[in-house]
Amino acid sequence: MGLMPALALFGGKPIRQGGWPCWPQVGPRVAARLEEVLASGRWTISAPYLGHPSFEQRFAAAFAGFCGTRYCVPTASGTASLMVALEACGVGAGDEVIIPGLTWVASASAVLGVNAVPILADIDPDTLCLDPRAVEAAISSRTRAICAVHLFSALAELSQLTAIARRHGLALIEDCSQAHGAAYAGKRVGGLGAIGAFSMQHNKLLTSGEGGAVVTNDEDLARQAAQLRADGRLFRPKPLEGQLELVPVGEPMGSNRCLSEFQAAVLLESLPDLTRLNGRRAENAGELDSVLVSSGAYHPQQTSQATTIRTYYKYAFALDPETFEDIPVRKVADALGAELGVIVERTYPPLNDNVLYQPASRRRFQLNDEHLKRIDPSRFALPECRKAHERFLTLHHRLLLGGPDELRALQYALIKLVEHREELRAVAAAR
Ligand SMILES: *Cc1c(COP(=O)(O)O)cnc(C)c1O
Repeated sequence: MGLMPALALFGGKPIRQGGWPCWPQVGPRVAARLEEVLASGRWTISAPYLGHPSFEQRFAAAFAGFCGTRYCVPTASGTASLMVALEACGVGAGDEVIIPGLTWVASASAVLGVNAVPILADIDPDTLCLDPRAVEAAISSRTRAICAVHLFSALAELSQLTAIARRHGLALIEDCSQAHGAAYAGKRVGGLGAIGAFSMQHNKLLTSGEGGAVVTNDEDLARQAAQLRADGRLFRPKPLEGQLELVPVGEPMGSNRCLSEFQAAVLLESLPDLTRLNGRRAENAGELDSVLVSSGAYHPQQTSQATTIRTYYKYAFALDPETFEDIPVRKVADALGAELGVIVERTYPPLNDNVLYQPASRRRFQLNDEHLKRIDPSRFALPECRKAHERFLTLHHRLLLGGPDELRALQYALIKLVEHREELRAVAAAR
């Protein structure tokens, strides 16, 4: 390393010191809607009817319309939506559910939460989504469902997964928590399998801080899901003012996983902005893609060929192994973060080696020795998930909401790292 370091990580001048677009972005009418809920006397669906549809029902109708599905059942969180989706599809005690080995921990913990067994399958190295061949190989007589995650908004190979699910009589669940508004072969995600689950947690592309929803075209699944999230109750068809709108049914018993009126109001007002923000992110991501590809030093995450609308929950890209040889991915993440004044993250660690995924640490999952063995994540081999964790970096989607200045900063920072990678290599070698 020369006397004067170039990289901000070592004291050089950063490309940009913060000043990025914020997330979440608050639409102009959101505050008024929250005040409206506050004063209304109805803060959730399990409260007396006020003579007009709740925000929860209005959001459900709007989101079903957006996803192109017949039904939407809002829930308290993405985790709740996955558990509701699994149980609506008949998944229960001892059933196996195939999920990708590289995803947010909730994809797995939701399966455990319905007393089922997560089967961790390896991913496609380019899309980071389920590899259909790995799914096929993981099917057993106890498999009940496949849960495909559209990781960082890249779309899984849904036509192959649908065919596999059909051939083996399994339910295909889409975990769309990272892909609100993306489309596959002209259809929005969520409606391509039996049922789709969404999270509306703070960082997601549509958010109310916490929240979720399931969408489906199947009337029976929707009816199951509605009861599973509201203690076994359904909306009465013609409520009277002052009457409780929910009535006991109990076709399955449920649990309370309802979205509050405050959250529903925020989502209803934010939904119209989703397409515009997705468009802005996609435009910037497209520009970034071409810089990355022409540099030869980075490889943007791919998506299924059938993707017709690409969204960006994160912008994920792999480091070229030759360009960055002997430089730990963690160092590159820190160096890029220092150039931009933001936190740059790697992908999740594979679920067979992830501190957040430790089924045996919870008494509730210790049903018996056989179950404990079946849910032990260390029994799965996930070489592609491991490689992805060693190669990929991700940028928060808010960085894609800027204009030309922000885009240029991203491009300059990425190129700067390539030009000055010897500084990183020297530090790595000194270890
Ligand atoms: C965020 C997320 C979830 C869980 O959602 P919560 O709202 O945090 O419960 C599940 N799956 C994936 C892929 C996610 O990104």
